Amino acid sequence: MKHRRLHAHHRMNRDAERLVWLANGLADSGSRPEDAYWETQLAQLILGQMRTGRDDGLTQALDRLYETNGRAYDELADLIESHAEGGLIDTPDGPRQALLIGVPVLAWSRFNIPVRNLTPDLVRDLKVQLGAHVLAAGARVALADYLFSPDQLPRGYAATRAFAEQLWQAAQTGRDMEVDAGRLAESGQFISDVRYLLAAVLATPGAPVFRWNEADGSRDTALAQWQAQGGALISSLLTGCSAELLLPDAYFAAWRRADREGRPHSLRAAVAYLQAMLDVPASGLRAAVAPSYDRRLEEWRIGFGPRDSAEVLHGVVWPLLGAEDETTDMGAEIGQVLKAAGVGEVVVLEQRFPFEFCEDCGAPMFPNAEGEVVHAEMPEESEAPPMHLH
Ligand SMILES: [Zn+2]
Repeated sequence: MKHRRLHAHHRMNRDAERLVWLANGLADSGSRPEDAYWETQLAQLILGQMRTGRDDGLTQALDRLYETNGRAYDELADLIESHAEGGLIDTPDGPRQALLIGVPVLAWSRFNIPVRNLTPDLVRDLKVQLGAHVLAAGARVALADYLFSPDQLPRGYAATRAFAEQLWQAAQTGRDMEVDAGRLAESGQFISDVRYLLAAVLATPGAPVFRWNEADGSRDTALAQWQAQGGALISSLLTGCSAELLLPDAYFAAWRRADREGRPHSLRAAVAYLQAMLDVPASGLRAAVAPSYDRRLEEWRIGFGPRDSAEVLHGVVWPLLGAEDETTDMGAEIGQVLKAAGVGEVVVLEQRFPFEFCEDCGAPMFPNAEGEVVHAEMPEESEAPPMHLH
């Protein structure tokens, strides 16, 4: 589960030094009892760091291990995430395993993809469907009454843990969490994007948490039933949008799934958007796909336009995830998604495309079929919202 990190060489604080030492110990451990020892020591230190409200010590330790010991890095990253999203809490009914859950939805729209508060009725109905199809019988659930954009999620590990604790508290007392929309960040507007509901689940330690932990459950059935039964509720929140519900899961797992599935989704959304805006079939479109390099490969960029012109009307960025780099054959994967979406002509460019942005509006520049650096512009007569004026 390697993440891409910036290569920082700051001096580490004392807690970060100890985190590195413990994570190296865990990586070398030869037995479960030894693992348990290292993990307990790490847990105390990680939770102590999170209580300070800052991520400095945690990120310093991760940065150092990223450079020096990949296995220890993975162990520490895993533990930090698990303590940010979950924990054992005391309740009047005894100890409970508490977990923050992400409920991701991929959406696209010619208009705005909303962020919004949920009505109490909708919160209740969503909890019924989550309880029936996604969570184990006996698990207790609380929902935050808001549909979040990625910009509005808690930033960092300490903030995630603080948010999770509020939601666990609500679950314990049988309430839900009221979110003050005025305190959330502004959301960027994109044609396709992900939206999240956030929930807490409390389960008796050792008992199943998810529906697919039960003997007659499976992830595939849970997803199909959640899509069938939760779909109408989610659609009512996303007026004017086309929405695809992904499998809810532990917060970081849900986030990674949305990142991964969001990439092909944004290509399919671009094709559908251009068909609707230009009134041409997908077969009348051409896409140019290129790897975008700064000092190393940063991302892939896809420029879309009509087949009979070199214009680029719309562009999509395909980010790298996990340990992907220039050795990953993304061009073929992107080409397949575009062809499956019916795009008439797909040109995968071999040369390095510059990692350039428009100096006026900051938008990424995209390739056309000749590999030229082009600013994506919708034709003026179209009803596209103006992205910028220059
Ligand atoms: Zn511009």
